Amino acid sequence: MASYDLVCDKCGHAFEVFRQGFLKDEDRVCPECGSEDVRQKFSSFLRSLGGAGSGCAPSGGSPFG
Ligand SMILES: [Zn+2]
Repeated sequence: MASYDLVCDKCGHAFEVFRQGFLKDEDRVCPECGSEDVRQKFSSFLRSLGGAGSGCAPSGGSPFG
């Protein structure tokens, strides 16, 4: 059983859906206002994978300096 964090774009209501497998269209409906403008929030574990890029760019200079 997985849980999905969803947020309504219309009224801003955030809610959680428990579903075995992927979300269905019927899950993407706001329980507060009934809007289908519902989007899934990013899972927290994705944030930990984010890197700040590399700082290994060569900055001028000639190898035969
Ligand atoms: Zn709503």
